Amino acid sequence: MSITVTVDGVPVTVEEGATVADAATAAGAYVPTLCFHEDHPALGTCRVCAARLDGRVVAACSAEVHDGAEVEVAADDLATMRRQVVGLLFAEGNHVCPSCEKSGRCDLQAVAAETGMLTSEFPYRYPGRETDPGDARIWLARDRCILCQRCVDLVRDDEGRPVFTLTGRGPDTRVELDHATAAGLSDEQVAAAVDLCPVGAILRKGVGYDEPIGARRFDVASVRERALRGERR
Ligand code: SF4
Repeated sequence: MSITVTVDGVPVTVEEGATVADAATAAGAYVPTLCFHEDHPALGTCRVCAARLDGRVVAACSAEVHDGAEVEVAADDLATMRRQVVGLLFAEGNHVCPSCEKSGRCDLQAVAAETGMLTSEFPYRYPGRETDPGDARIWLARDRCILCQRCVDLVRDDEGRPVFTLTGRGPDTRVELDHATAAGLSDEQVAAAVDLCPVGAILRKGVGYDEPIGARRFDVASVRERALRGERR
């Protein structure tokens, strides 16, 4: 069933069950996302997609609209909120864009550019996070992990067993790689896990910079263009 909502005052028609992000896309309005993947249920972990639904700030990727809903995405305070969340993610990790293998195809880097987050307004923590180099095919660079949980929820072996888990609490939270389960993944499944990570935390050993500048994901189409085409990944 179709319902009608307004996005920044513009009426749009969407299907029942649509999210705030869906409604924004239908209205041609960009809302950045990081943890969301269009092929999977929303995780709602990163909060980069802050928008307003009937006056309340929500995660646009997971909040559903209703008939007559009033959605706001373009307000200055929301743009500031989204930029600050991105800035916090940069300040909480050690992101090395110029030398990162994921540069040009990193969602965090692309969303930072779109939200105007050129330098974090928060003090950088420079956390000392151990890299896990012990897997035969996967290099786990925890420095760059934003704890989005995509890998935890979505990377499974053929038996449905998780390959990645989170341990610890608060600032000590970190992603772990189960080497025994990872050994059972096909090369295609490893490549999919690398692609699924929105930053350069999960890397394929022996690959490195395999896409030339100009041909990388966000060289070809910006994260904004991709989102407005419904490709939020
Ligand atoms: S390793 Fe990548 S996919 Fe996994 S939680 Fe960290 S940022 Fe997300």
